[in-house]
Amino acid sequence: MSSSPVVDLRSDTVTRPTAAMRRAMAEAEVGDDVLNEDPTVLRLQERTAELFGKEAALFVPSGTMANQIAVGLHCRPGDELVCDPTAHVYLWEGGGISRLWGVTPRTIEPEHGLLQLGDLRGKARPDDSHYARTRLICLENTQNRKGGKVHPITSVAEIAGWARAHGLAMHLDGARLMNAVVAGGIAAAEWARYFDTVAVCYSKGLGAPVGSALVGSHDAIHEAHRLRKVLGGGMRQAGIIAAGALHALENHVERLAEDHRNAQILARAVEESPGLSLESGPVETNLVWIAVEPGLGTAREVAGRLKAEGVLVSVLGAQVIRACTHLDVSEADASRAADLFRRLAPTAQA
Ligand SMILES: *Cc1c(COP(=O)(O)O)cnc(C)c1O
Repeated sequence: MSSSPVVDLRSDTVTRPTAAMRRAMAEAEVGDDVLNEDPTVLRLQERTAELFGKEAALFVPSGTMANQIAVGLHCRPGDELVCDPTAHVYLWEGGGISRLWGVTPRTIEPEHGLLQLGDLRGKARPDDSHYARTRLICLENTQNRKGGKVHPITSVAEIAGWARAHGLAMHLDGARLMNAVVAGGIAAAEWARYFDTVAVCYSKGLGAPVGSALVGSHDAIHEAHRLRKVLGGGMRQAGIIAAGALHALENHVERLAEDHRNAQILARAVEESPGLSLESGPVETNLVWIAVEPGLGTAREVAGRLKAEGVLVSVLGAQVIRACTHLDVSEADASRAADLFRRLAPTAQA
């Protein structure tokens, strides 16, 4: 291991709370949130609902729980949910949609990159007792497994119009929606108006230690409260962690632009390094998905060599690694990692 501190690019979930955030958490006013009496949680929920232009929000322990509550809200057992095969709600939540709610996933591989109306046309099943009832469309923005891309809002609007016309609900997995907001300059409320519910994570790029929210109508969030309790997500003096999330919302949104600039430093290095390429095309936000050519070794081997030099990345396929910028990655850290990428191939010239 090199003597300089480790640059951890595995995920934007690895951030530690800043000193100011810890102070806000230590000083948080608290109460019993299961009784709706924690003033800090209530303030966070109000701020979040306002930011998304929705009537209400519910603080939950994780993004997974926010997504799963949304599925439980919109669907009955036997219903069908439509999403991209790489959607977090389908791929990375332990099969929860069928395990918890008896919902059938119907994954649709988009023709080009992210789901568009053309991919969905004709896919709402007719009212016929042979079929599962198509009920919910789940989109993800930014979409992690598609390179952290921002879903074009025109495409979202078209899908939402089609979904309404077919009586389908719309849920947005907006774990990294604030990255999309900062990258594209479109406000959170503008995105949210196309969806019945939106999940957002405070614990990703925003840098809070714990927590997510689900936003929606008063009725939806009233029912979500019940589902959160069923899943064991009712927390007591949760203001301690909500204060971290509130601090993140107030102080760490605009700075996501720094993460995006640092991701560009990594992206340029990938493009200039023999044996590496951008797996999902141009980088738009804080995620850099990298394809490793076999000549350079396996993804695991390449990650091992980076680790030996103090740079951690995620191995997410036999020949795929992901580097992610965040609150605890400085421009100097990104440059150091970029130099290391350039030096991976023995024949590479700087
Ligand atoms: C991280 C993530 C989640 C889940 O969040 P957890 O808090 O880890 O459960 C959901 N969706 C996407 C796109 C994510 O990246």
